[in-house]
Parts: sequence; structure tokens; C-alpha cells
Amino acid sequence: MSFRNKYAPNNLPRPPHWRDFAVCRDEKPDLFYSDQPTDIEAAKSVCRGCPVQAECLAGALDRREPAGVWGAMSHEERQVVLAPVLAAEKAEKLRARAEAEQARREAREQQAVQAALDTARLLDVRPALGTEGAAGVLAATCAA
Ligand code: SF4
Repeated sequence: MSFRNKYAPNNLPRPPHWRDFAVCRDEKPDLFYSDQPTDIEAAKSVCRGCPVQAECLAGALDRREPAGVWGAMSHEERQVVLAPVLAAEKAEKLRARAEAEQARREAREQQAVQAALDTARLLDVRPALGTEGAAGVLAATCAA
């Protein structure tokens, strides 16, 4: 088996990757993506004889592979393994969303309070402005 980098000139070697040792390289991919229970079991038995089963399964779980047999596990079996992780991720997303909504609500309330304070300040200074008009309002607001 030669280890060549697909993105570099062919005369540059690269370290071997676990995929290079996958037994399924010599199998038909359809077997690993079939819905038929007999095919799924046949794919799993191929995996059980594969020297990189653990790496393959870990990668499939990391990537959340949406289909197929990987590391001797079907998609449904991987979902069972991932269920607590997915539940924790969902809970974290909901918590982050709630926090963001709370921050937006607080910002809106702060803006409303600030607008009310600005209006009150403006109303307080208006009687003292006399005939100075908008320039007087602006100066009085800035001075306050
Ligand atoms: S464990 Fe199965 S799917 Fe994974 S590399 Fe080996 S034969 Fe292929």
C-alpha cells in the first residue's frame, strides 16, 4: 500500500491515516448504506474484522454521520450512543438562547428607561429656555 497525498505532488509521501487500513475499501459501499437488515449485519461483520474499527466509530460519532454502518454500528445504534450528548447539546443551545433573549430584554428596558430620563430632563429644562428654541434645548440637555 502506498501513502500518497492527494493534494500534493505524488512524489511527496504522507503519514498513513487509519482509513488506509479500512477493510471496507475492498467492499461495495452499497453494503454499508443498505436498509436491508441482512446487509446491515453483513456490513457489521466486515467491520468486526477491521483493524481500525475503534477509530472509524469514533470518527463517525464525532461527525454525527447521518447514515450507514460505521465501526460496526448502524445509524440507529449510534443515535442511542449519542442520545445523552445530543440531549446535553440541545439543553445548552436552549440555555444560550434564553440568555440571549434575557440580554435583549434588559437592553430594551434600559433603552426605554434612558429615553424616559431624557424626555423628563428635556421637559424639566423647557420652561427655563425662554425663546432660545432648539439651540437652547440642546445646550441645556448637554449641560445636564
Ligand atoms: S470499521 Fe467498518 S466502516 Fe469502519 S473502516 Fe472498518 S470496515 Fe470500514
